[in-house]
Amino acid sequence: KQGLVKTRQNFVDKVGELLTGRRKIDEELYEALEEALIRSDAGVNTAMELVEKLRREVKNRKLTEAQELREVLQELVADLLGAGKPLNLAEPGPTVILVVGVNGVGKTTTIGKLANYFRREGKRVILAAGDTFRAAAIDQLEIWGERSGAEVVKQKEGADPAAVAFDAIQAAKSRQADVVLMDTAGRLHNKVNLMEELRKVKRVITREIPAAPHEVLLVLDATTGQNAIQQAKLFRETAGVTGIVLTKLDGTAKGGVVLGIQGEVRIPVKWIGIGEGMDDLRPFVPQDFAAALFS
Ligand code: GDP
Repeated sequence: KQGLVKTRQNFVDKVGELLTGRRKIDEELYEALEEALIRSDAGVNTAMELVEKLRREVKNRKLTEAQELREVLQELVADLLGAGKPLNLAEPGPTVILVVGVNGVGKTTTIGKLANYFRREGKRVILAAGDTFRAAAIDQLEIWGERSGAEVVKQKEGADPAAVAFDAIQAAKSRQADVVLMDTAGRLHNKVNLMEELRKVKRVITREIPAAPHEVLLVLDATTGQNAIQQAKLFRETAGVTGIVLTKLDGTAKGGVVLGIQGEVRIPVKWIGIGEGMDDLRPFVPQDFAAALFS
């Protein structure tokens, strides 16, 4: 699969090579597998859980050779990843999507890519410049607005993000927009304020449209491995995340972190970023991902 070359190679090198040939299934193999899964960034708990299930299947199916484990592990990984979850879209619109995440993970780029995706479907899109803390963030969003053909609602640097949210929703209602993509601040060094701010933005959105936000997408940088999982836990508690966008999968061998996210955070990955361009966003298809890891 495009963009997953490094992840696949890493997984095949670490996990796949243990599952070839007529090597016997024994305690040593289980331990090596667990370690390989951890090293491919699946996370300790998830690795342990997968190996536990593998043991059970080996017993049930009376398997004896390592190569027979390959198919079973692929099934278990596919199982762990679950069925893909599509975006929750409001009919009629506007659908409000709040995009959260720490600075630098690719949040603005992802908003641009999503805007492009919806525009291509013929939808009317509004981008809300809710990261009012950084002037550069507002400028960046305007660039993506121009590129994708989406309208940008903004205020001055330092304005209240909740006020921007309010404006964006009024604009969406009066112009009959289909989708509002709302950017948010991501300065993690001030966690309490950040989370307070997100809650306030959410409150304003819900007051204007009771079923909104329809999605809270958390953007995570795959190259940060276990840090991404920590961020997911933090935002899950405080922002009510409904889906994850995992960026920079093109530049990393750490795609195994998808397993860790599912195993330890249990929030569905909905999109993956595989480059810096406007088209470098793909819906995440769990079965394809599992198959790619073992192909
Ligand atoms: P923000 O601070 O979270 O808004 O991050 P930006 O959207 O400004 O992105 C930070 C950097 O990551 C930029 O150089 C982007 O081009 C880059 N980036 C974002 N997504 C991807 C991706 O999927 N793949 C790669 N290779 N780079 C990405």
